[in-house]
Amino acid sequence: MTNPTILSQLASQLEGELHYDTVMRTLYATDASAYREMPQAVALPKTIEDIRKLINFARENKTSIIPRTAGTSLAGQVVGNGIVVDVSKNFTKILEVNKEEHWVRVQPGVVRDVLNIELKKHGLFFGPETSTANRAMIGGMVGNNSCGSNSVVYGSTRDHLMEVKAILADGTDVVFKNDDLTTFNHLLQSAQRKNGSATLLDKIYLKTNEVLSNETNQAEIRNEFPKPSIERRNTGYALDMLLNCEPYTEGGKPFNFCELIAGSEGTLCFLTEIKLHVNDLPPKEIGLVCVHFNDVQESLKANLIALKYKPSASELMDHYILECTKASVEHSQNRFFVQGDPGAILVVELRSDSKATIEQQAKEMEAEMRAAGLGYHFPVVFGEDTKKVWNLRKAGLGLLSNLPGDEKAVAVIEDTAVDVNDLPDFIREFNEILSANNMYSVHYAHAGSGEIHLRPIINLKTVEGNKQFRLIAEQIATLVKKYKGSLSGEHGDGRLRGEFIKQMVGDHNYELMKEVKRTWDPYNVFNPNKIVDTPPMDTFLRYTPGQQTPEFKTTFRFHDQDILQHAEQCNGSGDCRKTPASGGTMCPSYMATRNEKETTRARANILREFLTHSDKANRFNHEEIKEVFDLCLACKGCKGECPSNVDVAKLKMEFLHQYYKENGVPLRSRMVGNFSSLSKVASYVPWAYNFIFETPALRKIANTVVGFHPDRTMPLLSNTTFKKWANKNLTPNPSPAERGTITQTKSPLSTGEGSGVRLKQVFLFIDEFTNYNDVEIGITTVKLLNRLGYEVIIPNHAESGRPQLSKGLLDDAKKLANQNVSLLKDVINSETPLIGIEPSAILTFRDEYPDLVNDDLVDAAKALAKNVFMIEEFLAKEIDAKRISKKVFTTEKRLVKLHGHCQQKALSSLVPAKKTLSLPENYEVQIIPSGCCGMAGSFGYEKEHFELSNQVGELVLFPTIRKQGEDVIIAASGTSCRHQIHDGTGRTAKHAVEILYEALV
Ligand SMILES: Cc1cc2nc3c(=O)[nH]c(=O)nc-3n(C[C@H](O)[C@H](O)[C@H](O)COP(=O)(O)OP(=O)(O)OC[C@H]3O[C@@H](n4cnc5c(N)ncnc54)[C@H](O)[C@@H]3O)c2cc1C
Ligand code: SF4
Ligand code: SF4
Repeated sequence: MTNPTILSQLASQLEGELHYDTVMRTLYATDASAYREMPQAVALPKTIEDIRKLINFARENKTSIIPRTAGTSLAGQVVGNGIVVDVSKNFTKILEVNKEEHWVRVQPGVVRDVLNIELKKHGLFFGPETSTANRAMIGGMVGNNSCGSNSVVYGSTRDHLMEVKAILADGTDVVFKNDDLTTFNHLLQSAQRKNGSATLLDKIYLKTNEVLSNETNQAEIRNEFPKPSIERRNTGYALDMLLNCEPYTEGGKPFNFCELIAGSEGTLCFLTEIKLHVNDLPPKEIGLVCVHFNDVQESLKANLIALKYKPSASELMDHYILECTKASVEHSQNRFFVQGDPGAILVVELRSDSKATIEQQAKEMEAEMRAAGLGYHFPVVFGEDTKKVWNLRKAGLGLLSNLPGDEKAVAVIEDTAVDVNDLPDFIREFNEILSANNMYSVHYAHAGSGEIHLRPIINLKTVEGNKQFRLIAEQIATLVKKYKGSLSGEHGDGRLRGEFIKQMVGDHNYELMKEVKRTWDPYNVFNPNKIVDTPPMDTFLRYTPGQQTPEFKTTFRFHDQDILQHAEQCNGSGDCRKTPASGGTMCPSYMATRNEKETTRARANILREFLTHSDKANRFNHEEIKEVFDLCLACKGCKGECPSNVDVAKLKMEFLHQYYKENGVPLRSRMVGNFSSLSKVASYVPWAYNFIFETPALRKIANTVVGFHPDRTMPLLSNTTFKKWANKNLTPNPSPAERGTITQTKSPLSTGEGSGVRLKQVFLFIDEFTNYNDVEIGITTVKLLNRLGYEVIIPNHAESGRPQLSKGLLDDAKKLANQNVSLLKDVINSETPLIGIEPSAILTFRDEYPDLVNDDLVDAAKALAKNVFMIEEFLAKEIDAKRISKKVFTTEKRLVKLHGHCQQKALSSLVPAKKTLSLPENYEVQIIPSGCCGMAGSFGYEKEHFELSNQVGELVLFPTIRKQGEDVIIAASGTSCRHQIHDGTGRTAKHAVEILYEALV
């Protein structure tokens, strides 16, 4: 470990940041692989000079640097004990686009999909597309020589890498690009002349020439590297590709070190700028021929026929994936094209400017496959439906990521590539090895380029699992060598496959690779122990064999596992590093700050680390966990969008609850938790409360005292409470006894608003916000429901518990959950559902209550949850049942811009809200592609969170709303969202019920 004093001196010399505290080191100890190693420090450089200083420091202090972008590597490429240099935050510029010459110049931290959004404006795009394209960055794509399902057409990143600017191990700047023969010879000769004064760059040229011009080396490289026909080849340093260049191959490509740098995993130099070749946008029309087969073998044979039709992708799904998706609500709709129970489906993507051409090609392909006795059903999917097919294909990894407990789908043999002609035999033998080891795996992905992803299920916490991990890797490496394949097709070697490179390319070539590393990096500063000289593949793992999972007594239930296992479900895939351009909610704090520390992954990582390694009696009692959870808005974006369904909002609630046991509950948290009681007191004198909070000077003082930001406006109290209004205006239910334990009910048909035809009785949940602040919305809801023919009953329920939950006051929330479930369990059913106005409150019934109530109420809570709806969901169901007609609404033309509440999106969807708001026949409803609004309950009020709250609002929501004309209706069902929209844009957003009520004729 480098001396902290020296690190602090380094920090003072950088314009960017250098962290060497436990928190940051812990967060960068893992990537998306099974590996873990504590780095000495983490740097977020701001300038190229910073990077140079870091390299010089590493060289002088005998440490190393690990270049990193999104950290989604699957083989441990960005795990190491040096200084992790993360360029994902400050090197994100697209520097130049040249449409005529088809290239783009970027910094390494540009996200692949963000690049393509920019390129689209010029009619261009960068082809290689990883499944992680919405967060993977160009630096990392070059490092790993990434590619994706379209590699049959667009190849890998190497095929597009024209030029790089980089810093070498001695701190010098270099540019690598095509050297035509004259330039190459000139560079070589000048290096030779310098003799003793040769620079590092000279030495690189000289050594490369020495290696590649040697005939023995040439023969060894040509014989031992993967077959040239294999497009996906990431086995060690690409000496074979360099050998294909002039002057070593006559008529070959011009010499370019980029061939070697692509796939070198940050072990040779530090890239500061990257120039990529880009293509014209592909033809618009897409047709997916979804060929059904009896088994995988048949599909792999048919794959060879499919390839004759030059598809842009040929992707496999096996019967495991298809079987698992049957039961999934999300995926069952994506199975529309699946007939019967196929053993495998090959999705062949054809692109053309005309649909007719695709149809013709599909017909010919079908005929050829049928003639060969392959395939039995050939549906062709066009248009929007193609997205559903691809979603189903991508389900494989999601399903695997979601396994509860200690057994996980491990990345170990997931990335083999062979010649497509060898694929059927290779996969047959592969499966024989798996079954001989009592293992199984789903098969999916890139059949078209000879690569099928297979991840066996292994428990790496056990000694046995650890043995399996090594054994299967060894056996598959031998099989890959037999087929002259590549052990890595696209994910890279890192520390996982480094050990096997010698076996893959032979001892001679491995020694050449070591020479390459020594020449480029004589001081071993760049990402050591990757590709060559890697430690054994079963060392530095995230889990220790024989590791015992400690027992945790938590207030929440975490289904079939405990809280640590839930945190461990995070596999580091980095979906929580999406940008706003990708859409979705997860993770707003990262989107606003671009800090790894503010990702969902960071929160899962820190919890896992401390719960595993803490020596405290209460393992939650760590400031470090608190620090990393602090900027979590508890929006639940992750619950809905993380492929492993890591629910950090729930983890945060439980963590705070456990942490407060040792440290006490802060006053502000108590006040927020007691929102309802405090509002009740204030509601006796609402005018006084409102006077304070409507007078800026007084509000600032009051806010400051409580710990809220002085500039944040506060929600005002209504003149009355909903319950008082109800007592006055609604008729008591004539026979409360009918409702069992419901002691106070109101039947408001007598308000005079009713249509006279009673369709149904509904129970309305009056949450704490509606009762005190949004009383008018509550009243409007009753009136709207009456007018539409529903009798509304207001049960005498307890508060929702949302404020308590948000502050980790789980004992209080549990009491309320128990009360509400006990009260409502016997009266709420499909005929008399419970509906709510405020998403965050009503959705506690669906989300938290079943995991929170006493054991004897769990079944009741689950049953109840099925009949609890947001009002939009309820109305949408009634529209579907044809009980609500458009006729009672205006025919006026209006545009509605809808912002969805995060929990509405995570636990329900915006489809019901859109359907409901579209009831007036000329209302056009457009969903704002916003994630979280940034307010998230009390989060945006809190002084230390105010700024982030606004940054989150500014990502998409505020700018979109500011662009809308006054006549556009802004819809938002969350009370916090409406408040945030008002504070951030000055516009008043309305709840769906208000919009509909105003639209009644
Ligand atoms: C769920 C999942 C699916 C995946 N699917 C695919 C897929 O379809 N295709 C595919 O190819 N990969 C896939 N991957 C692997 C990974 O996402 C890709 O390799 C991706 O391109 C890595 O990008 P990154 O920004 O995360 O890079 P990182 O992981 O941060 O880095 C990757 C390598 O690049 C080096 N590097 C980064 N920046 C620099 C720099 N400035 N200078 C020098 N070296 C640098 C690093 O040291 C490291 O060795 C998948 C991963 C996951 C988790
Ligand atoms: S939290 Fe979810 S999305 Fe983020 S890295 Fe972990 S598994 Fe992936
Ligand atoms: S709850 Fe929201 S803010 Fe917190 S980790 Fe999940 S997505 Fe991020």
